Amino acid sequence: MWIGTGAPADFLRPSGVVVRLPRANPRRPPTMNHASELPIAVLGAGPIGLAAAAHLLERGLRPLVLEASDAPGASVRDWGHVRLFSPWRYDVDPAAARLLERHGWRAPDPDALPTGAELYEAYLRPLAAVPELQPHLRLGRRVTAISRVGLDKIRTALRRDAPFSIHTVDAAGRRERFVARAVLDATGTWWSPNPVGAAGLPAEGEPAASGRIHYGIPDVLGRDRSTYAGASTLVVGAGHSAANSILALAELARTAPGTAITWATRGSNLARVFGGGAADGLPARGQLGAELRALVDAGRLTMVLELRIEAIDADGDRLIVRGRQRDAEAVVGPFDRIIAATGQRPDLGMIRELRASFDPALECVSALATLIDPNEHSCGTVRPHGAATLAHPEPDFYVVGAKSYGRAPTFLLATGYEQVRSIVAMLAGDRAAAERVELDLPETGVCNSALPGAGDDEGGGCCAPAKGGCC
Ligand SMILES: Cc1cc2nc3c(=O)[nH]c(=O)nc-3n(C[C@H](O)[C@H](O)[C@H](O)COP(=O)(O)OP(=O)(O)OC[C@H]3O[C@@H](n4cnc5c(N)ncnc54)[C@H](O)[C@@H]3O)c2cc1C
Repeated sequence: MWIGTGAPADFLRPSGVVVRLPRANPRRPPTMNHASELPIAVLGAGPIGLAAAAHLLERGLRPLVLEASDAPGASVRDWGHVRLFSPWRYDVDPAAARLLERHGWRAPDPDALPTGAELYEAYLRPLAAVPELQPHLRLGRRVTAISRVGLDKIRTALRRDAPFSIHTVDAAGRRERFVARAVLDATGTWWSPNPVGAAGLPAEGEPAASGRIHYGIPDVLGRDRSTYAGASTLVVGAGHSAANSILALAELARTAPGTAITWATRGSNLARVFGGGAADGLPARGQLGAELRALVDAGRLTMVLELRIEAIDADGDRLIVRGRQRDAEAVVGPFDRIIAATGQRPDLGMIRELRASFDPALECVSALATLIDPNEHSCGTVRPHGAATLAHPEPDFYVVGAKSYGRAPTFLLATGYEQVRSIVAMLAGDRAAAERVELDLPETGVCNSALPGAGDDEGGGCCAPAKGGCC
């Protein structure tokens, strides 16, 4: 534990040993003169956090991985029943693979599509367990806040010299602080779902109805089968998560009579979720959209387009949804269950005391906004980017992985692996490697230009070479 002003600066090693660092002037905060003593903190042991740790180890730098859950890959395990649309060749970080291969790991078939559970079992779990990485992993430590030791956000003098102070809490409520010379926040967005309310705030009655709402992707054909079999379910959202749940419900409906699906979206342009079909560089992603479109065309679900949900009322055991559809009042239901596939948002509260810069609309790292703004285009074909794009006014602080995209839904693992490769190169002082782009992403084959009047069938969009392309 670091003890406050006037005491010698104490630094926790990942092992839990306190390193006492004498200070010449006890009124000054401890400085980065001791940087070589300090680890580089990686927040979150998801795919991107673990990849960052692998890159740090490869460059001889010491990671300190702080993970809220009692095991790595917590988000991926939560949607473990969902099959990725990226084959293994895009799902494994190259430095992580090199580390694993030293211990006899064999890469899965590069063309096979893992489920989230398989990604965890065949890759993330063994990666977190390699002897080089495991001692640097602190599980069950939820990061609650980060600051600079002894400096609030306003103080500029000595800022670059002050280590980061990272506050954590465990499941029993015990608090522990860590210090680090740099921070990579890879905590994702999965655990901060958006509400059903169209205005970005919970709809009236939504908190009271939460026992009948699943935020995310329930395991409709497995663990949660009995909840949805024979039930009437409203799926809200227009992304791949909604597509996954609708397809699973449709499969369930084949064998469970009475299973009914209603799909509500805020917009009317479904080009992004229907996808680029055969033109998608990731065929499974194209197929997901094509299957969804076939269900809609076959009338196997009830569509409610352009619905802005304002309230959820209880009707006995069921739920009635109220809102506005175009300019008119709308009432839909009753439903037994609601699946909120409304996306996620980043938890920015924990980094409030740092000088971070986020796009005001997307809450993504500022410089990424023009590349990923879903108002402008839907292509997952984001230009590769690294340390320079991801830098904040706060030196040596980076937000990486799904969290770097904020509320934008198009993040891909391969993008995150390239982010951390570049950032770690920068932290290691290898500017040339940091600036080099080493990523070739598959294209979506669709770019929903989202221009007023664009219909479901309109492609074109900002990625079309003929138009110059934004990506
Ligand atoms: C259903 C689904 C399917 C997807 N399919 C694909 C695909 O096919 N291809 C592709 O490239 N991408 C896919 N993605 C997108 C993306 O690759 C994943 O979201 C991926 O899990 C993001 O990795 P991450 O490490 O950034 O975040 P996460 O996987 O969310 O990991 C974050 C980690 O941080 C931990 N954490 C959270 N808060 C704290 C805290 N305060 N303190 C400490 N630890 C914390 C979490 O417990 C978790 O372990 C998919 C996403 C979803 C949801």
